Order: sequence, then C-alpha cells, then structure tokens
Amino acid sequence: MLTDTHCHLDLNKFDQDRESVIQRAVEAQLERILIPGLDLESSQAAIRLAESHPAIYAAVGFHPTDLDKFSEKAFEALKKLSAHPKVVAVGEIGIDYYWVKEREERAFQIEILRRQLAFAAAVNKPVIIHMREEEDIWYGQASIDLIQILREWHKTLVAESHPLAEKPGVLHSFNGTLKTAQNAMDLNFYIGVTGPVTYKNAEEKRQIISQLPLERLLIETDSPFLTPVPHRGKRNEPAYVAYIADKIAEIHMTTREQVAKITTSSAARLFGWGG
Ligand SMILES: [Zn+2]
Repeated sequence: MLTDTHCHLDLNKFDQDRESVIQRAVEAQLERILIPGLDLESSQAAIRLAESHPAIYAAVGFHPTDLDKFSEKAFEALKKLSAHPKVVAVGEIGIDYYWVKEREERAFQIEILRRQLAFAAAVNKPVIIHMREEEDIWYGQASIDLIQILREWHKTLVAESHPLAEKPGVLHSFNGTLKTAQNAMDLNFYIGVTGPVTYKNAEEKRQIISQLPLERLLIETDSPFLTPVPHRGKRNEPAYVAYIADKIAEIHMTTREQVAKITTSSAARLFGWGG
C-alpha cells in the first residue's frame, strides 16, 4: 500500500476528470492521499475533497508564493479550519527565493513562516515545508535561512517537551544537498521525494537519496507537477507515486513492497494515521 503525501488535486487541471483520477489512485493501491493548501481558498477546497473521499486528507496553510492572499482575517479563518478532523498538517508553508527576489517580501515570507510554525505547535500538527533557492542551485540563502528558522522552532519544541519535537514535519519535494537533508533529519524531519528522482540527468539527486535512511523518506507526487518518467511531460497524478517508489527501491537496492511498507508507515506516524 502506497501513500501520496503531497498532491494538489484541488487545482483546476483536475476539473475535467477529478473522480477518475481518484479512482485510478484507489486502483493503484494508494492507501491515502494528502492535499496541502496554498491559501485559505485552496485549504477549504482540500478539506471539501477530504470530506468526499475516505482516503483523502488535507493540510491548511499559506504557501510562500501565495502571500498576496494572506491577511489577518484569512489567517484567523485558516486557524479555525485546522480543527477539522481530516486536517492532519499545516502546509504547505516555507520560503521561496526563486519567485520572490525583493528583500522586504522575503522578510515577510519568513515572518509568516514563523507564525505558521508557532500555530502548528499550538494545534499539535506537523508541518509541510516548501523551500526553493534563488537560482536552480541546491544550496544557498534559502537553505541557510530555512534550517536556521526550523532549528529555532525545534529548540522551543524540545524545551516544552512538545510531542512535535519527535516528528515536526517534512521537507517536501526536497531539492537540497546531503548536508541540508542531514541538518533537517537532525531535527527529526522527514525528506519528501518526488518525480525528478526518476529523471535521466538526476544522478546526483539519486546519489543523495541513496545516503538517506529509507525510514526518513516520504513519497509524494506533487501532482499535477513534477511528473515522473515514463509520463514526464504530461500531467502528474497520485497513481504515479508507484514510479517514485520503484526508483527509490532501485536506489536502495530493495523491493517496491518494502519501500511502500516503510514510507507508508512513516507517513502514518507523521500524520497520525492509525496504529
Ligand atoms: Zn506542493
């Protein structure tokens, strides 16, 4: 049984055939699908989808490139949404220096990230973290700032003996260096693996993932984006999580069954599903 821990099924790319996409995911033996929010409206949409399907769950949050839709009123409304029984995380939240270059706007991203981290701690829900560097590089100011912010947050969790200190969240669609992954794992974060791991030119990425323990990895499609081989170039969907599992199995020299078992149980541990 596989889990897609990150996909945007609420986006309009799925308006024509959303039900068949979900049906294919069920047929592909996906146990659960997690839809993160990007702003108040998409968080509400994620919850509506979660209400209509037993396998679907939601997260609520303001994405760093969607902060034009942030307001105090919207944040209050989002906080209320988080009490919904199918909301299992706060996300996706984080920093994005690729699309945001202005110093003041970056400072605002950081401020809102910190407030959402504090909110996640207050409601005892793990976080789904988005991070993107200024250029197409693997290490830069975004990694530096993010790790520092997460370290400070984790320190307060530890000081309070907060249950989230043991499982604070996931670095979604990880695209950093081995060192950054290790820094995040030192804070008990999971590392999210997406479709690009299957790309021909991703040898360095596979090299990094081979050095991360299977027990710290989560699989996610980030649908409709980041479509894995052999469907690269087309729209992504949750059923394709299997291609990512296969690639991780190859990298870690094990079976898809083993990868499915371990990553699904990690996802259940992080997001509080059963057992
Ligand atoms: Zn996403």
